[in-house]
Amino acid sequence: MSNLEDLYREVILDHYRSPRNRGELASPPAIRVEGFNPLCGDEIVVYLDVQDGVLVDIKLTGHGCSISQSSSSLMSAAVKGKSVEKVRETIATFKQLMTVHQASLDEASAAEPLDLRALGELAALQGVVKFPVRIKCATLAWNTLSQGLDELE
Ligand code: ZN
Repeated sequence: MSNLEDLYREVILDHYRSPRNRGELASPPAIRVEGFNPLCGDEIVVYLDVQDGVLVDIKLTGHGCSISQSSSSLMSAAVKGKSVEKVRETIATFKQLMTVHQASLDEASAAEPLDLRALGELAALQGVVKFPVRIKCATLAWNTLSQGLDELE
């Protein structure tokens, strides 16, 4: 397990040090949504360019702790180029990951397995559930993305 945890730590650090999809998009036409986590001081601005039901581009600005920053970078890499429907699925799966209690996660392989392989690199954030105060850091970008998609409708 510790090798896996090392790998996850590497993924999180990599996204923190080299965040993906940083920048801005012209808004409009892109949607601009702001998110704020007062518990930690994390701030994020998400720009979404959706065309014909596909999230063709996503850009992020903002600052905050390593968890919030790496989570937003991982998110952008996971959803860019996907259909809005698929993006919503990914949001739901990620939120599920963040709500699964660690104890049940350890036993999960048998009972109701969360498909970690479907999450790809996002699975690296699963350790966050051990630290409830950091969950809001990890979910900030996702909630902001979700809010942006709602504005489309
Ligand atoms: Zn934070």
